[in-house]
Amino acid sequence: MHSQSNPNAACGQSASRAAPRQPRLSPLRHPRFDPAERPFIVIWEVTRACDLACLHCRAEAAPWRHPAELTTEEGRALIDQVAAFGAPSPILIFTGGDPMKRADLVELVAYAAERELVLAFSPSATPALTPEVLGELHQAGLKTLSLSLDGSEPAIHDAFRGVEGVFARTMAAWDAAIALGFKVQINTTVTRRNLYDLPAIARMALEREVMTWSVFFLVPTGRGAALEQLSPAECEDVMHFLYDVGKALRTKTTEGHHYRRVVLQRTALARLGLAHQEVLALGPTYAALRAKLGPLAMRSEPRRSPMDINAGRGFVFISHVGTVYPSGFFPAPAGSLRAATLQDIYRKSSLFVRLRDPKLLGGRCGRCEFASVCGGSRSRAYVLSGDPLAEDPLCTYSPGSFPFQAELASLLETSMARPRSDTPPAELAGS
Ligand code: SF4
Repeated sequence: MHSQSNPNAACGQSASRAAPRQPRLSPLRHPRFDPAERPFIVIWEVTRACDLACLHCRAEAAPWRHPAELTTEEGRALIDQVAAFGAPSPILIFTGGDPMKRADLVELVAYAAERELVLAFSPSATPALTPEVLGELHQAGLKTLSLSLDGSEPAIHDAFRGVEGVFARTMAAWDAAIALGFKVQINTTVTRRNLYDLPAIARMALEREVMTWSVFFLVPTGRGAALEQLSPAECEDVMHFLYDVGKALRTKTTEGHHYRRVVLQRTALARLGLAHQEVLALGPTYAALRAKLGPLAMRSEPRRSPMDINAGRGFVFISHVGTVYPSGFFPAPAGSLRAATLQDIYRKSSLFVRLRDPKLLGGRCGRCEFASVCGGSRSRAYVLSGDPLAEDPLCTYSPGSFPFQAELASLLETSMARPRSDTPPAELAGS
């Protein structure tokens, strides 16, 4: 039984209490172009090689480079294809494995910067990530990077990353990146191992003024299949905690698409002057996380609205050997750059076309009033059920159960009608 609303709360189609000041931001952002025509984010796994052994690794990375990796010339051709989508160009993210394992990384970055692409990269915290190399990359045109931080202290983070000393190297790279002028995003994968450390990580991120804190909700693929995942109820509590933290710090989720539903629900309740704890059935995890967070200077609204993109709809992943996927956690190939262009695969492959049609969604996602702006994690649905259009089992929502449907419909209408968002200069993967 999936339920969202607090059964003890007063329900109705409208609220009688006086509404407070309206939030200024649109609760959701949308790409300012048709996501059926071009992606918002292109993620290129430049290599699978990596010296870490992270417990959740999607790529099941190994220390050596694959002999069939895209060559430098193929990489340049890929960059040309990304640029050919036209302005505003997609954001190109160099990921891995560890991108630093490629000797031509600086060359590829410089080539992409010449084409005026917005660039970012997500290195592994290894001894190769020196201030000198970071400086070279910055000079070549990289201005944004993301670092993984899965614990606020070495014992938690290093256990997760599988190598001792990674926490210290992450902090050193973070300092070096700030000194060089990089914008830094922190990525945290949430599991039972670090669930109650989230408030401490949030405080670190806040104190060090990160650009964005991105929280990743595990998709059980690769080595991540063996990790202890959150239950749907715990996930719901974490998302409400993130909404609160988001009033102090720019937060977002990866493979947690129903965060957009939480944002809309919370916005609707705030506009009605209702306390979310009184309306929504939040659990003890939310209370515990909020208690651990302590007082924080918060605005009345989140500092960042989630971007309405999903696997294959604004988002595309290219593997180390040039295979194109709807996301890095969605192990169903849609084509190969060695046989077709990125434009053709993104626009015309049957998998991508089907993923962009919310009317094809099944289960609760298919019946859900949030489907057009959420749609659930297609990666999780595919990995757990084999059906890319099945419901997202990590979501607790029972379609139609939010008691203020009229307010919600108005919010959705306003959000969709607003001018589409500009591409922020430093947006990394996630929604
Ligand atoms: S049921 Fe599906 S579409 Fe609705 S909020 Fe949950 S994940 Fe999103």
